[in-house]
Amino acid sequence: MTKLAICPGSFDPVTYGHLDIIERASKVFDHIIVAVFHNDAKTPLFNTEERMDLLKKSIAHLDNVSVDSHGGLLMDYAREKHACAVVRGLRAVSDFEYELQITSMNRKLNKDVETFFIMSNNKYSFLSSSMVKEVAKYDANVEDLVPPCVETALKQKYS
Ligand code: ADP
Repeated sequence: MTKLAICPGSFDPVTYGHLDIIERASKVFDHIIVAVFHNDAKTPLFNTEERMDLLKKSIAHLDNVSVDSHGGLLMDYAREKHACAVVRGLRAVSDFEYELQITSMNRKLNKDVETFFIMSNNKYSFLSSSMVKEVAKYDANVEDLVPPCVETALKQKYS
């Protein structure tokens, strides 16, 4: 049976921190779907199509990874896709409480899907899409933080 996992997130935009988690997860599971979700707590800079497009370009070298989007509950989506797992990245302690809350709610909603956490690479443990947007707005160099296609897209957004 194919072991399919979902990497959900806002990806507004995708960073090397996200890609590190996706790449590592792709070595453990047969297939990964990177799913763009709407997060009510965040107003996105890039629309869903743009975020998916940047993700597709950034994961093109990974054979067993695809990109999708969903507007509803993650656990409904997981059921629909027959996923066995959800993979999230964990950065500094600040991620922990939020992830704990979501994970326990998700387990209530769907007991068949296990959530796995991958510890962030030290290099990226303080990297977030919000931080990248904040500095890119002032034309700072973000080439170590995001793939080239994202760097170009940020320049266009803020030009
Ligand atoms: P969300 O709005 O769902 O938190 P994000 O796009 O911010 O979506 O994050 C998606 C996933 O990627 C989350 O599990 C988050 O913890 C993880 N993530 C984001 N940035 C990093 C990073 N620098 N290192 C490791 N994981 C990360």
